[in-house]
Amino acid sequence: MGNLKVLPAQIANMIAAGEVVQRPASVVKELMENAVDASAGKISVVLTDAGRTLIQVTDNGCGMSAADAVLCFERHATSKIASAEDLSNILTYGFRGEALASIAAVSEVTLKTRRASEETGVKVSVSGTLKAQSSAAAAPAGTSISVRNLFYNIPARRKFLKSDAAELRHCIEEFTHVALTRPDIEFTLTHNGRDIFVLKKAKSLKFRIQDLMGGAVSSEVADISAKTSVAAISGFIGRPESARKTSGNQFFFVGGRYFRSPYLHKAVMNAYADLIPDGLTPSYFIYLDVEPGSCDVNVSPTKTEVKFEDETVLFQVLYACVKEALGKNSFNASLDFDTEGAVQMPQLSRSFQDYRGDDIAPSVDFDSSYDPFGPDSLTSGGHPSYVDRHENYGVLFEQKTLSQSRALVVGDRFVVTPVASGLMVVNIRRARERVLYEKYLRALSQGEHVTQTALFPEQVNIGVAQRLIFDENADLLHSLGFDITPLGDDSVVVGGVPEGFSCEGGKAEEMVRDLLATLEDNKTALPAMMQSSLAVRLARLGASGTSPVRTALDAQALIDSLFVCDNSELTPEGHRIVNIISMEELDKKLL
Ligand code: ADP
Ligand code: MG
Repeated sequence: MGNLKVLPAQIANMIAAGEVVQRPASVVKELMENAVDASAGKISVVLTDAGRTLIQVTDNGCGMSAADAVLCFERHATSKIASAEDLSNILTYGFRGEALASIAAVSEVTLKTRRASEETGVKVSVSGTLKAQSSAAAAPAGTSISVRNLFYNIPARRKFLKSDAAELRHCIEEFTHVALTRPDIEFTLTHNGRDIFVLKKAKSLKFRIQDLMGGAVSSEVADISAKTSVAAISGFIGRPESARKTSGNQFFFVGGRYFRSPYLHKAVMNAYADLIPDGLTPSYFIYLDVEPGSCDVNVSPTKTEVKFEDETVLFQVLYACVKEALGKNSFNASLDFDTEGAVQMPQLSRSFQDYRGDDIAPSVDFDSSYDPFGPDSLTSGGHPSYVDRHENYGVLFEQKTLSQSRALVVGDRFVVTPVASGLMVVNIRRARERVLYEKYLRALSQGEHVTQTALFPEQVNIGVAQRLIFDENADLLHSLGFDITPLGDDSVVVGGVPEGFSCEGGKAEEMVRDLLATLEDNKTALPAMMQSSLAVRLARLGASGTSPVRTALDAQALIDSLFVCDNSELTPEGHRIVNIISMEELDKKLL
């Protein structure tokens, strides 16, 4: 190793940039936070190509003097803290004085700013290792920063960026985090010339949430509030029945700052435990206020982690607070779901043998169209009387067990059928999941087409961001049997879905959103993994569709399709599909 050298500032900045600036969304976050710190009442964000080409944030805040406008690009230049004590009492977003230096090190930045008290403004251009160039310029009061060609000088970084849809989604997330903390500020977000959000000043947080999330959010949430010694808690939690398969609407803030916390998330989920099915996540917007000094936001450079002094107590308090709000609003479980959440591992594969073995049994001549349990059997006139049926019961039952259509539907969740060793019970939804899974897996790996059910075409507004994800996956969706076509900038029309899916009765929007979220999450996975996990999720979506198994024929068809599967025992996620109530157990019950 050679002699020690202190790195030139610009190189140090490029290294620091790696931590602060990971993607366009990081720039959106830093610039928006600076604008909020500058007491802006109005902040606009303009993006081109998901921020790759341009990120421009304009505010009407305090502006900077000509000298500060140059100085702000220096590392550790901050107006927000002056002493070490200030660190434990931070009221602004920024305090490291790192963001602008880092951003300028990896992009081409132009800053225009003017303080309200000054007549002329200043324009500063900085880029990479070049020195800042400044000149007097006409500018409205406030600050506008344009960041062009992010990572132009780090090709590896630029290549590492994801699709526009994914990057835009990250930008929208950051925008949302800031907008959710300040309903008193007007925000706009524009992408490639199209408005994504135009958020007027909101009377309260609830209105801001409504404007951001759209739909009937305000009727889907309940207030939470508690004042305790560790924290004051306020905000909103979603009704259990509006819990979604996709995560994304879960927000924690402390002192007006968004943070992520798997630990506190668990507290919320625990409070919902018996109210929502496994795999669904409720929405929540939870705002904590703690004593300054009892929480450290200075943990990571991107500052989405926060360290609380009394985390376990906070966990309990939050749990109790959410639980209370759920109780007060008497939210009840609305869906039938697995109470046995645990994954069941395969045991001896007996039911399949049983089922197949039964097929080999000698057949008896009988009228297979006669259904002793069908509605006809209960009417009189030309049909067997009660006594007839009663006397023939044993015979009929025997025939039934050997008929081609011996399965029955029990409630809306189970199908039962007699087998050699007892009574086989099949969980309908799980069976469908398995059948669909294998079908989709085949379709995905062979490019096979899945038959389609035509629907009355339904127009769904999914927003510009989701539309980008759709555009990127349109061919894949088509090959899976979805007939979904684009409409305008932010909508699609659903004209058909693969067999097994059902999206009537206003469910189309949810289905499309779930599909897109599934596709989006799977983007980075290896192709094979993508196929199987996509098939798993598609199968789950499909199996939870609403077309019920009603008749004995439906039931038999389901069983038949289940037992031609490669695995008829377990769902792709390891839940048991079939179980046999043995003769011994039946004997015990009835003897
Ligand atoms: P930090 O926010 O941690 O102080 P930044 O690098 O983000 O560091 O910003 C450096 C300084 O530039 C800030 O402390 C602030 O004084 C000034 N500044 C940045 N953006 C704005 C803005 N939009 N309006 C007014 N001043 C700004
Ligand atoms: Mg900052």
